[in-house]
Parts: sequence; C-alpha cells; structure tokens
Amino acid sequence: MYKKINHIGVAVKDLDKAIELYRDKLGLEFKGTDVVEEQKVKVAFFKIGETNIELVSPISDDSPIAKYLEKNREGIHHIAYEVDNIEDALKTLKEKGVKLINEEPRKGAHNTLIAFVHPKSTNGVLTELCQVPEEH
Ligand code: ZN
Repeated sequence: MYKKINHIGVAVKDLDKAIELYRDKLGLEFKGTDVVEEQKVKVAFFKIGETNIELVSPISDDSPIAKYLEKNREGIHHIAYEVDNIEDALKTLKEKGVKLINEEPRKGAHNTLIAFVHPKSTNGVLTELCQVPEEH
C-alpha cells in the first residue's frame, strides 16, 4: 500500500526566509511553491533524492499551522507516506481502528490527494497519506 516517504513537512513562520536557507545555503533543489487554500498554508518543496522536504507556513491566523506554531517551535511537523490509492489506504486504516483526522481525501499541494492520520494513533507523529496524480 505504501510506495515511499513522499515528503517530510517542516513548519516555518517565514517562508521566504526558509526558502532562502534551504535553496541557497543548504543547496537543495527548489521545486516551487503552492498555496493550499483548504489548509490555509503556503508550501515550498525541495527535492532530495526520492523524497522532498515540504516547508509549510500559515497564510492566515486561523490556519492549523498558525495554531501549531503558537504552541510549538518551528520544526518537523508531519511525515507523508505516498500511497497508490488513498481511498483504499484510508479504508484499510479505518478498519484497523486507526484514528483519522480526514476520513475522506482532501486536495493537497500540486494536485495531490491527501489525508491526515491522527497523531494519537501514531505515537505523536502527525502522518499524512498522499496520492500523487499520474504523470502523462
Ligand atoms: Zn505534507
């Protein structure tokens, strides 16, 4: 059901400054930004081998990431597992009693489908499932 770690999400307050760091100082390959309206975040992707680092910053005060950053420091926020079929994956997890934040897939960055698993079910690690659109 799982293909790879698609990305590791890092919560940041100042996205532009963080992009400068990851692109210009750490030297990772910058893949661009995207706004995810539903989550009220702007994200920046950096490719590193088969996976990515996703910087996530709030675009409004009521964004879940804004609330997260009120309570926590900047840092690793979630891990995203890439799956072939997110609906099947959610169904399987639900059947096994894993607590989900999103029971239905949502629209993520770059036309992905995403859903979050509740950290209460995963030893405190916020876990995202994501399904990447097929390339044409
Ligand atoms: Zn993510």
